Amino acid sequence: MSKLPRDLVLAVTYNCNSKCRMCNIWKSEPLPVLALSEYEKLPASFKDINISGGEPFLRPDLVDLIKLLVAKNPQARIVISSNGFATELIKAKMQEILKIKPEIGIGISVDGIGEIHDQIRGIPGGFQKVLATIKELKALGVKNIRLAYTAGDYNIDQLYKVYQLSQELGTEFTLAAIHNAENYFNTTDNKITKLEEFRQEFGLLIKEELNTWNVKRWLRAYFAYALYKFLATGKRLLPNYSGQDNIFIDPLGNVYPADVSGHIMGNLKEFNNFSDLYYSKVSQEAISLEKINQNWMMCTARYAMERHAPRVIGWIIKAKIFGVNL
Ligand code: SF4
Repeated sequence: MSKLPRDLVLAVTYNCNSKCRMCNIWKSEPLPVLALSEYEKLPASFKDINISGGEPFLRPDLVDLIKLLVAKNPQARIVISSNGFATELIKAKMQEILKIKPEIGIGISVDGIGEIHDQIRGIPGGFQKVLATIKELKALGVKNIRLAYTAGDYNIDQLYKVYQLSQELGTEFTLAAIHNAENYFNTTDNKITKLEEFRQEFGLLIKEELNTWNVKRWLRAYFAYALYKFLATGKRLLPNYSGQDNIFIDPLGNVYPADVSGHIMGNLKEFNNFSDLYYSKVSQEAISLEKINQNWMMCTARYAMERHAPRVIGWIIKAKIFGVNL
């Protein structure tokens, strides 16, 4: 019998205070969310938990939910993904959350500099709000802050600028590309066509990351390289272990192998515990169907990179010696 997954992306609400051009979540009426008690059913197998949304800080019982997750998975790395717009709310909740998990991370979306970010996110003055939030988080002592950049045709010229901003601010930088997902309210028109610009911007990032003596940054270079290859060819460089290594749970309690998957494994409310759901016939079929799905996101890549460490290390050594040809 396969082990339970290690990586969880937990969307805790679909309410959102942003109006992003690549996402339909904010157009929906407010939806009910899974009761706190249902999360008691989650297993203790997780090593990485990404709390996402919608905007997670809009969930009123977020602090209690994090307390519950930490009690079950005390060793797990936890990161909250936020748009960073609700500065005061984020500050107030993070003060409480830091008492529960001092090393918690927070990823703040930044898709461009200044008005470009505001236009993409549909929030006038949004970029300045994000900077204010980062300042407050630093003042609170949050050590693990990341600028989370999502690339599309409309902002690929901003990739390297946001990467540089992360260095100026002394934060980490995370990279993703827009994708379509039934779970994100049927976003189906997120296409990437400006591949030459992607090649150039990804190339700058990869070169700079490889030019360090930091293993984490070399791994980021590999992740970026594989993301570019996925965008250019539609194929992953490493197999997809979604459902085995990583799962996604939506705010209603539906469990999927990944957030871009349409294969539902079951709903937490319908089972007494997670194992019963996970090892059910429907769930195992969903995992099996997911194997052929092609995507390249941190949640579906992290443990694939660990499973295929020799290939990743080989690429890093070769890339450091001979450079990278995208
Ligand atoms: S992309 Fe994120 S921040 Fe933007 S509307 Fe969708 S859920 Fe909200």
